[in-house]
Amino acid sequence: MDVITRLDDVLPLAAADADATDREGQFPQRTVTALGESGLLGLTLSPEVGGLGAGPVEFVDVTSRLAAVCGSSAMVYLMHVAAAQVVAAAPPPGDPEATARLASGEWLGTLAFSEKGSRSHFWASTSHATPEGDGSVRVKASKGWVTSAEFAGLYVLSCLAPDDQSPTDTNLYAVPTGHPGLTVSAGWDGLGLRGNASSPMEFDAVLDEQQRLGGRGDGFGLMMQVVLPWFSLGNAAVSLGLARGALDAAVSHAAGTRFAHLDSRLADLPTIRARLAQASIELEAVTAYVKDTAARVAAADETVMLAVLGAKAAANEAALHVTDAAMRVCGGAAFSRHLGIERAFRDARAGYVMAPTADVLYEFYGRALCGLELF
Ligand SMILES: Cc1cc2nc3c(=O)[nH]c(=O)nc-3n(C[C@H](O)[C@H](O)[C@H](O)COP(=O)(O)OP(=O)(O)OC[C@H]3O[C@@H](n4cnc5c(N)ncnc54)[C@H](O)[C@@H]3O)c2cc1C
Repeated sequence: MDVITRLDDVLPLAAADADATDREGQFPQRTVTALGESGLLGLTLSPEVGGLGAGPVEFVDVTSRLAAVCGSSAMVYLMHVAAAQVVAAAPPPGDPEATARLASGEWLGTLAFSEKGSRSHFWASTSHATPEGDGSVRVKASKGWVTSAEFAGLYVLSCLAPDDQSPTDTNLYAVPTGHPGLTVSAGWDGLGLRGNASSPMEFDAVLDEQQRLGGRGDGFGLMMQVVLPWFSLGNAAVSLGLARGALDAAVSHAAGTRFAHLDSRLADLPTIRARLAQASIELEAVTAYVKDTAARVAAADETVMLAVLGAKAAANEAALHVTDAAMRVCGGAAFSRHLGIERAFRDARAGYVMAPTADVLYEFYGRALCGLELF
């Protein structure tokens, strides 16, 4: 079955629940269950582990379509895929079934990277793994935000490697839910993406080195080579989907809303049409950039990293512009909740501040342009 057809049973549920997900900060469990049943939680994993064997291009397509109806569901999905990709790239020897569990949807995956200490600089853990002397380590970590926190089946946890030599001497561990020493320390109450349970978590856990992804100190490399491209493309796709949803709603409102006393429509106003045109042109241009980047990642283009950095920043920025334009075009109708535009406007603010934040990406991109080291 075509991967997009697999969304047929998912999108109506996501759309039906989107308002309650947002208003009540309710985790979109029905949508996540439907994603598992559709096979899409294994979209990018290989058929050998039960996945669909698709790549970055299909991932961008599926994620943006989901975001167009429910931003929270799309963000949960993106974090799962990013976690699944890094587990698939370096499976933990102690749990050879981990990737298959993520592919089937038995486990919803997520990333526990950002820390209270190093904030948005997710690549620089401040938490330590202290050897326990029996092949295990104790990890104490305060993670500021973990999407799907109490709903995840597997956390990819970052921390400094034992006897760390530098701020990027990092280990990643696959930690299943229910492992002793994991606490969701507060609820999630955000401006947007209100359903995605991006709560703070405390880890005080004894982990077997067999739960580690890759070798000692390989965490930073896995973050940069695996997580960064998948996360950035997925995050860009969420931004594109939110912008697309808001723009479509704005066009439909402008085309259908009348001034009775003038016998004209909102769309008869040149200023309205110009705002919609500008928003649409920006969205089309950035969509092409993100799709092209996804195709280059799929083709293992070794020079794609600059585009990966740029694509996330450009899509995050476009989502802010387009949702803002949709708010202006639709006036008070957008300010009220019934068009769903204000939800996209709020949800769209998250991509920009999700690490690597757009401002950090501009810094990285500029450094790369000027031939300077990124770190
Ligand atoms: C909805 C949501 C879900 C999230 N889910 C997860 C998750 O599942 N897993 C996870 O690990 N994290 C998650 N995060 C955390 C996210 O990735 C960032 O780490 C977090 O948003 C950073 O917020 P902060 O207040 O710590 O930013 P700060 O680091 O305090 O940054 C504040 C400002 O300074 C800017 N800034 C910082 N450093 C630089 C620099 N070097 N150059 C230029 N500007 C800079 C930033 O761009 C930002 O504008 C989530 C965040 C949100 C909002």
